[in-house]
Amino acid sequence: MNFKEGWKTATLKCDGCGVEEKVEYDPERRKRHMRGEMVQDIWIEATDAYRSQMIGLRSGFYMCDPCFPKGEDDD
Ligand SMILES: [Zn+2]
Repeated sequence: MNFKEGWKTATLKCDGCGVEEKVEYDPERRKRHMRGEMVQDIWIEATDAYRSQMIGLRSGFYMCDPCFPKGEDDD
């Protein structure tokens, strides 16, 4: 059985470089996010990159990984 059964696909556009990314998500979890639950409580096992995609879906503002502002530490 596919654990992604019932998932939806959305397209996110980066506000930095304009690249488009497809992202799959669980609509039930997205509903919880839209109700105001924190991404780290909903997508506990997900990567930071995936969480920012989910935040992007909600806010309409998205930065792809290369465009996302990083800390100065790893220069
Ligand atoms: Zn970008």
